[in-house]
Amino acid sequence: MALPTYKDIVELMTKGATVEAQERIMELREAVLELQEENVALKQKNRELEEALKLKGELHFDGTVYWRNENNNRVGPFCPACLDVDEKLVRLQNYDDSWYCTKHKQTYDKRSGR
Ligand SMILES: [Zn+2]
Repeated sequence: MALPTYKDIVELMTKGATVEAQERIMELREAVLELQEENVALKQKNRELEEALKLKGELHFDGTVYWRNENNNRVGPFCPACLDVDEKLVRLQNYDDSWYCTKHKQTYDKRSGR
């Protein structure tokens, strides 16, 4: 249904059809509330996408694990399975020759990374 315009309402008022004019005003109010809710949801979604995009630009896969470039500092490494499958940044435990994901119980050989 098309939204009533300001002109429609003014016309109704000048005709003396105040009840109809009030109905149109209520329709407008409802539409505004719906649009506000939609706007909040879209802003939230946009923020999430911007954050995901920023994170993607900061990540580097070395062939074995992911590293994150934070203000020119190399941070990590992070589990590739957690990131690729679950889209979660999970820091790996540091062992002598390997990295270890406590969630996947998976070991990544340090020597295979670059
Ligand atoms: Zn993992």
